[in-house]
Amino acid sequence: MADQQKLIEQLGPQARLQSELTTLESHNRDIWILIIFAAGVLLLGTLSLLVPGSFWEQNTLDIRISPQVLFILMMVVVVLTLYMVRREAEMRRLRLLNVQHTLHSQAELAASMVDALTNVFSRSFLRELLQGEIARAERNSRPLALIMCDIDHFKAVNDRYGHLMGDYVLAQVAGIMKSCVRGSDYVVRYGGDEFLIILSETDAPGSQIVMDRVRRKVSEWDSAHRLGDFSVRISMGLHQHVQGQTVEQAVSQADARMYAAKVVAREKNVVPTQPGT
Ligand code: GH3
Ligand code: MG
Repeated sequence: MADQQKLIEQLGPQARLQSELTTLESHNRDIWILIIFAAGVLLLGTLSLLVPGSFWEQNTLDIRISPQVLFILMMVVVVLTLYMVRREAEMRRLRLLNVQHTLHSQAELAASMVDALTNVFSRSFLRELLQGEIARAERNSRPLALIMCDIDHFKAVNDRYGHLMGDYVLAQVAGIMKSCVRGSDYVVRYGGDEFLIILSETDAPGSQIVMDRVRRKVSEWDSAHRLGDFSVRISMGLHQHVQGQTVEQAVSQADARMYAAKVVAREKNVVPTQPGT
């Protein structure tokens, strides 16, 4: 019992609330009160049959009770009623608190899962997410692809147009990525301007199609919202999950591919060198 109490304390306020509510609801006092009341009526009925002289006069129920006994009986009824009303109010209060706590913790959980700026999944949720996807892919022998994306020379956007514009570009790029994948896929903000796209049930040719789509849509957005002479481009690295790999291994492979792609792009001068970089 002491151990259970300790565990409840460790689990926090919601568990304590739940436990209090369960204890209150498990004490079926209402039922006991009804049983006692029914037993009292039955007892009176039985007595009236056994000693009719005290209860009946000319076939009429004629209970003679002293005022003191009547007062005590009324007091008992009043106290019981007050107790039941108070108990009902307490249960209602606890139920309401319980619902509020549940909603609050769910909102907190949802907020911790989603990046506030870009509205895609946050890195704190990545491990759990990817572990689940890896397990599913391995169990069903299905392909799983990771695409690491990083905006080229993004620092220059902040330096030249300010952080607010930088934030705006990040949110737009994240939105574009989300629009390029299926509802069953995930976009995660991995770091500052780095995003990880997780494509379930997707092989290399399928992933290539998604990468081309992201590149094309970012380029279209860039043409429509040109930031001076800055061109928003993204370097991407694709990694197809290999059976037995951990989350960290899979992510670091995608990251390494992305950096390799960035280096190649720079060497080919595909990524324009920004003033001051
Ligand atoms: P590279 O081509 O090597 O990717 O160059 P880069 O300038 O994009 O450099 P890098 O990816 O290493 O740095 C990302 C920059 O993103 C650093 C920081 O100034 C900026 N950044 C990170 N988080 C935020 C954010 O939440 N908002 C804004 N506005 N900028 C951010
Ligand atoms: Mg970058």
